[in-house]
Amino acid sequence: MDISHIEHLGIAVENLQNAIDFYENTLGIHCYATEEVKDQHVKTAFFKIGDTKIELLESTSPDGPIAKFIEKKGQGIHHIAFAVKDTNKALKIAEQRGVKLIDKKSRKGAEGLDIGFLHPKSTQGVLTELCSKK
Ligand code: ZN
Repeated sequence: MDISHIEHLGIAVENLQNAIDFYENTLGIHCYATEEVKDQHVKTAFFKIGDTKIELLESTSPDGPIAKFIEKKGQGIHHIAFAVKDTNKALKIAEQRGVKLIDKKSRKGAEGLDIGFLHPKSTQGVLTELCSKK
């Protein structure tokens, strides 16, 4: 699959601004970007620590995946994202290895990355994202 590193951790939060304040003022890491991803019904905020990022996710809709996640499990780590060379290739390999896919083909995620999700039922309970740069 050619995983090179953890690209980011996705963290579901109830209130993006409160969460940004915590990361910036308490942990002292700088939010370098915010972005709304309309088809995912989320607002995101990004922090970089070494090669890895933190992606905070606030739902923009009560029916969105992040709202549903928080309803079930509360705020917290939502997914782990691995950087790969080619998301579509990696999705195909995962499927060949018996992994249930959420995305059969990559789609556009935040920061213009090609992303695809593996189903947590096939990944030891952790929602897993694969992502690559164009
Ligand atoms: Zn992500």
